[in-house]
Amino acid sequence: MSKKQASPDPHPIRTNIIGSLVAAIVTPLIVSLIPGAWSFLAKCVTSFYLWSISDHSISGWMMTVFMLCAALVLFIGLKLLRGTSSKPDWRGYITDEFFGLIWHWNYYGHDIASLACFCPKCSMQVNPQNRSSFTAVDRIGFYCEHCEQDRGEFEESWEDLENKVIRSIQRKLRTNEWQLRAASED
Ligand SMILES: [Zn+2]
Repeated sequence: MSKKQASPDPHPIRTNIIGSLVAAIVTPLIVSLIPGAWSFLAKCVTSFYLWSISDHSISGWMMTVFMLCAALVLFIGLKLLRGTSSKPDWRGYITDEFFGLIWHWNYYGHDIASLACFCPKCSMQVNPQNRSSFTAVDRIGFYCEHCEQDRGEFEESWEDLENKVIRSIQRKLRTNEWQLRAASED
C-alpha cells in the first residue's frame, strides 16, 4: 500500500488569516516584553510624521506616498511570488484510474515505485490471478473478494500491464494531465 505524500496546503487563505491573527497577537506581546519598546515605536512614528510635514527638496508627503506605493508593489509582488510557488506538486499525484482499476504508487527519485491496484467500487486491493490455460499465452484477471465480483481480464502478463500503467502515468505527467486528476480529488 502506498503512503500518501505531503501535498500543498489546501487552505492557503485560512492559513494566511490564522498567520496574520497570530502575528497580530504575538507581536505586541513581544514588543511589551522589551523595556522602552513602546516609547521607541512612538518616537519613530512622531519623527516620521514631523519629517513628512517638514520641507525637503521633494515634499515629505510626496515621499510618503511614494514609499506607500513602493510598499504596495512589494506586497503584491510577494503575493504573486507565493501564488506561483504554491503550484501543485506532481509528487502529490499518486493515484489514478487506468483500465478499469484504481492504481496507487509512490515515487523513488523520478521513478514510479510500489505500484498496486484496487477495486474501483470498494478500494479493496486486488491481486493479479493467472487465468491462462496455456503457459505460452498470458492472461490475467482481477477479482474483488469484498464485492465478490470480477474486476477485469487482460490478455497480457502482470509485468506488461504494470509497464503499461507506468507509461500511462508518465504520459499524464509529461502532458500535465495529472493536474486534472489532482483537482478532481480536492
Ligand atoms: Zn470491491
